[in-house]
Amino acid sequence: MQFSDLGLNDAVLKGVEAMGYTEPTPIQRDAIPYVLEGRDVVGAAQTGTGKTAAFILPMLQRIPKGQGVTALVVSPTRELALQIEEVAKTAAKFTGHRVTCVVGGVGYEPQVQAIRKGIDLLVATPGRLLDIQRRGDLKLNKVQVLVLDEADRMLDMGFWPDVRKIIALLPQPRQTLLFSATMSSDVLRVIGSTLHEPVEVSVARQATPVEAIEQAIYPVDQLQKNELLAALLKQHDHWDRVLVFSRTKHRADRVQKVLEREGIRAAVMHSNRTQSQRIAALDGFKSGRYRVLIATDIVARGIDVEDISHVVNFDMPGHPEDYVHRIGRTARAGATGTAVSFMAPDEMPLLRDIENLIDQVIESRDLEGFAYRERLIPDVDRNAKKVARTVFGGRVMGRRSGGRGRRR
Ligand code: AMP
Repeated sequence: MQFSDLGLNDAVLKGVEAMGYTEPTPIQRDAIPYVLEGRDVVGAAQTGTGKTAAFILPMLQRIPKGQGVTALVVSPTRELALQIEEVAKTAAKFTGHRVTCVVGGVGYEPQVQAIRKGIDLLVATPGRLLDIQRRGDLKLNKVQVLVLDEADRMLDMGFWPDVRKIIALLPQPRQTLLFSATMSSDVLRVIGSTLHEPVEVSVARQATPVEAIEQAIYPVDQLQKNELLAALLKQHDHWDRVLVFSRTKHRADRVQKVLEREGIRAAVMHSNRTQSQRIAALDGFKSGRYRVLIATDIVARGIDVEDISHVVNFDMPGHPEDYVHRIGRTARAGATGTAVSFMAPDEMPLLRDIENLIDQVIESRDLEGFAYRERLIPDVDRNAKKVARTVFGGRVMGRRSGGRGRRR
């Protein structure tokens, strides 16, 4: 995939060349075509993913020149704003757009003078932006594209009242792009009230290294997965904050119903749920009202919940990389965490791919006392690999050579 495949015009592509980028990053590949279409976009992406260029490049293609500030980027910190300005200036070298940055803590007058000379794209921190606007030195009535960068940080830092005032000054219709490293329920609320049918694009967060996570496979018939999950939760009280990944929305809904029937509080999050349903699910999971959150891969990315005790792959992930991303949601910030994966016979080849990727053998386990309909024993030769540590019934079973499960 090349930048030229994304719909960017020659002037912008020359800017890309000037920046020295040869290939788009995942967030750029996913977001740029939507931004060019004029859609509202929510990007779940941290700094370091290339998110700045993901909004700057298509924005330059969309906005006119010489009509006043038509693109506005709001950023929580001075440092970030200055970085964005630098990227935008390089990117705009061949499009001819004029870019400047207004931030607090530095002289007011030079910033106002820069604005008076005529600016197309303005990068700003909220406080200084409002100051300049209030003193009558800046008009925001021409803004066509608004970027809210690091929305989670703006919320954390208490900037949201200012940001709302800024939004109220902008005309409609308008394109809004929101980027956030995490998707807390506060951020979801903001998205719901500010954006119009946004497209969601995301790149996976930095996951906990797999070595830090205790892993186990539970071989089980497809039809007994629900039952096994309920049994595991009932037997293990210390599974207190459990994130369950399901392959489909429909399956996620079913798992929730089964768990609720068994008296286990569970919420579900997938793309068919409304924004307010997602917020309720996430808030409830965080507060402990729900012990279990069942999610599909897309939605689970960017969910920021501390202290997930267990990740359950109700279905083996289709791509081995997804396994690493999913289980990386547990054991955050130095805590320990456990990942268990349910594996039906037809999912065995997926296990082999995962083990090759992580270069570990994951130990297989049975749940004691569970009425298995069938004994399922993986038949792959896994002797060559290291054995992952496994927790069973709360006890760390330790490393063994050979990777043979207890049952064999
Ligand atoms: P950001 O996430 O926007 O802060 O970008 C992180 C770093 O990646 C910055 O140093 C960018 O210059 C760099 N970068 C962004 N996009 C690309 C790309 N397509 N190729 C190479 N480097 C990039």
